[in-house]
Amino acid sequence: MDPARPSMIDLHTHTDASDGRCSPAELVRRAVRAGITTLAITDHDTVAGVPDAASDAARAGLTLVPGIEITSVVEGADVHVLGYFVDVESRALAEFLAAQRADRVRRLRAMGGRLAALGCPLDIEALVASRRRSGHSLGRPLVADALIEAGYVDSVAEAFDRFLGEGRPAYEPRCGATPVEVIGRIVDAGGVASLAHPGTLNRDDLIPALVGAGLAAIEVYHSDHLPEQVERYRHLAAEHGLAATGGSDYHADGEYGADLGGVLLPAGDYADLVGRARRSGRAAPRTVEGSGRAVPGLDA
Ligand code: AMP
Ligand code: FE
Ligand code: FE
Ligand code: ZN
Repeated sequence: MDPARPSMIDLHTHTDASDGRCSPAELVRRAVRAGITTLAITDHDTVAGVPDAASDAARAGLTLVPGIEITSVVEGADVHVLGYFVDVESRALAEFLAAQRADRVRRLRAMGGRLAALGCPLDIEALVASRRRSGHSLGRPLVADALIEAGYVDSVAEAFDRFLGEGRPAYEPRCGATPVEVIGRIVDAGGVASLAHPGTLNRDDLIPALVGAGLAAIEVYHSDHLPEQVERYRHLAAEHGLAATGGSDYHADGEYGADLGGVLLPAGDYADLVGRARRSGRAAPRTVEGSGRAVPGLDA
């Protein structure tokens, strides 16, 4: 990275490997256009978008952090855990994520059944088949799009409010790993774990146990966090000795999350996160470094 260029760090974005709308290459193009200098791709339950973005990022001078956002479950509610600097070639991680994605298919089918019973039948098998690309994950936004196309709702927000959101009539809980297990999986794959958007999760009571399981950070800066929540989680991170992470949660222009460049992580917080990844001792933190120059402590 050009040392004269101010850093713009976004550690939370999605591609069409999960529910984002851009290909990894298109995401890199848009990030560069927005002035981003360090980008993490954090797709839901897959790392498939990371290798696809690597060469474009390197050519464009963008530092790419391999990341993931894994859905875990506590008492029927989804808890999103971010992982950074994970080894995207880890076999154990790949097997775990394949099981996670299989439960996404099960959940979508169950939600399709509930929607049919509510008078809104959809061709869920066609939806599943349309996304049968290796390593790609599907989720509720796909169902929301289908509900709009069928004329049952006018917007994704309405689809979540009326049918798909937690506690709504077509909601089906995930079955699967707890956040404690997920943190272990991320650490075993050489990564550092951060609790995603704790302000939307509203389960701060879980944080001490997660710290005990190896949680390294919490997502302080997020598009859904009000300024007072940023303040709250900044303090909570300090109290528990955790790093702060943050990002836009970009999915597409004008859709769920902020636009690229809309939520950034301060450079000092990023340096803290990299330091923790380095000190965790399993491996040097992996990034694809845009300038082609080695950055101390970072694998190219
Ligand atoms: P899933 O991965 O199937 O649990 O779906 C969760 C995803 O749905 C999130 O990552 C967002 O991309 C999207 N989402 C969640 N809530 C809403 C909402 N209220 N409006 C629009 N999109 C949402
Ligand atoms: Fe999403
Ligand atoms: Fe999330
Ligand atoms: Zn996300």
